Amino acid sequence: MRALLLRETPEGVAAAVETVDPPDGEVRVAVSHSSLNYKDGLAVTGRGKIVRAPFPFVPGIDLAGTVTHSASDRWAAGDAVVLTGWGTGEDRWGGFAEQAAASADHLVALPDGWTAARAMAFGTAGFTAMLSVMALERAGVTEGPVVVTGASGGVGSVAVALLAHAGYEVTASTGTESAHDALRALGAAHVVHRDALSTPPANPMGRAAWAGAVDSVGGSTLATLLATTHRRGCVAACGLAGGHDLQTTVFPFILRGVTLAGIDSNTSPPDERETAWARLAAADAAGAFEALAVETIALEDVPAWSDRIVRGQTVGRVVVAL
Ligand code: NDP
Repeated sequence: MRALLLRETPEGVAAAVETVDPPDGEVRVAVSHSSLNYKDGLAVTGRGKIVRAPFPFVPGIDLAGTVTHSASDRWAAGDAVVLTGWGTGEDRWGGFAEQAAASADHLVALPDGWTAARAMAFGTAGFTAMLSVMALERAGVTEGPVVVTGASGGVGSVAVALLAHAGYEVTASTGTESAHDALRALGAAHVVHRDALSTPPANPMGRAAWAGAVDSVGGSTLATLLATTHRRGCVAACGLAGGHDLQTTVFPFILRGVTLAGIDSNTSPPDERETAWARLAAADAAGAFEALAVETIALEDVPAWSDRIVRGQTVGRVVVAL
């Protein structure tokens, strides 16, 4: 099969398309599409320690395609499936290849009405946005002003569209000037510069501005959100595009009852996974993502686009057509 292979070299990680033997496993999948996430960018450029398996290694945390062989009675040849997370592209070979292998329990049926390409227009980023919205709902945040950080990115742009479509008043926080119109088209009522949220208030709590937040940035932005969230509000923390440390106080939790909800898409259990994918597909069918920016690239383009995504130079989602 053709695959993007990562090799360790004295200069760091090198990525190139090569021909290799396909992996073996409980279920084998002919991959038609994958997608590029921030995490893939870190793996392919070697800028983050994502790969936890021996090199050479095939990255790609997402894939969609058709089952070619199954040792499990859950799946049969010809089934259309999606795989995200569960260590795919981290500790086992991933989606930047024409074939993949997976445990039967890790696969999800391609939602009705979707093509593999459309599923990968969402991929882990879209799935994470959906899990974040579900976390807000679980915390009782079903309306009101909400903010999405890293809004022009994959998680951010899907979250903006989902929340706006569900009737929340969405503020999109972005450092990408050129994305303002696109964010409004996705449904953002307001667009603010990311710098406005990057310095926490001088006091442990500032003016309460948000019923909820979906944060893909982390660091001082997450600290700012916690300090400016309404009583009984919720911040879904899913990313670290701006930093992984968190300096905060307990006051938002003990004086306003704010919930900090952690989002881990990688190990989302099967029932939650199926619900999230079905809800994404339903929102798509209802027109929530008509304005979502989706770029399709070839396997050979992945290294250059990986560099762009870690520099914050991509907008929306990137699908990889195998
Ligand atoms: P993208 O690169 O598509 O989006 C990230 C966005 O963050 C950028 O578009 C940019 O948006 C903003 N950003 C980039 N650099 C900085 C910076 N230095 N300071 C502040 N903002 C910055 O990535 P994804 O959407 O795929 O992923 C977003 C984050 O979520 C990543 O940290 C990723 O690791 C994490 N993630 C976590 C998952 C989980 O399960 N918890 C799953 C998937 C992703 P703008 O220009 O609009 O500000």
